[in-house]
Amino acid sequence: MTTLYEHGTLAALMAGNLAGTLSLKELLTHGSTGLGTFDGVDGEVVILDGEVYQADATGRVNHVTDPNVMLPFASVHFPGNDQQAVTVTATSKAALQTALTTKYQLANVFAYVRVSGEFDHVKVRIAPKQTQPYPSLLEVAKHQPVFEQTHVSGTLLGYYAPDIFGTVTAAGWHLHFISDDRQFAGHVLEFTGGELTGELEIFDSLEQHLPIHDQAFRQGKVDLDSLKAGIYAAEG
Ligand SMILES: [Zn+2]
Repeated sequence: MTTLYEHGTLAALMAGNLAGTLSLKELLTHGSTGLGTFDGVDGEVVILDGEVYQADATGRVNHVTDPNVMLPFASVHFPGNDQQAVTVTATSKAALQTALTTKYQLANVFAYVRVSGEFDHVKVRIAPKQTQPYPSLLEVAKHQPVFEQTHVSGTLLGYYAPDIFGTVTAAGWHLHFISDDRQFAGHVLEFTGGELTGELEIFDSLEQHLPIHDQAFRQGKVDLDSLKAGIYAAEG
């Protein structure tokens, strides 16, 4: 069994429930690799082999060792024995996504990819930390700093979710990047690169964890139509 563990939902973030609801310590008991964001959507988190990095809105990358930091949303797993070797010529983000989704028949499954190599250009966005009362994720998305690097070697990692789960998590590929020197990271908007190598893994199980002790989450009302429009605007 290969399980993807997700804490929080995209719908809750869209509704402005941005407070951290799970500790990093607890999250790491469910996976050693993954991505997410901290309390108040404070930056973009990359978890690689149990090491936690946060790109903050100034563009700096912090190595996070405090187990008590809280996350409102995260996806993690323990890389297992079912990984398939991947080599792709990734001329663009769209080309990589299409190649992986088609070749590995991902349309109706959850999957993970991690590939490394030389990138000609990488463009990321980094969510800036919000304070109470929280805006919706759509409002946050309108004011997110963007950073770019050229000629950078690093790793892309993230998850694929089928369309039908698109209000629980981000449908399609959700990819974060971190450079080999750990100086540049973020939520990937675009890239161009050459040959990338790494692993892909397909999950047969999804463990969706909910922040049941969070009153904002418990009392939140979801309007499905405006939620979908908002997700399209914020993530699309
Ligand atoms: Zn992200």
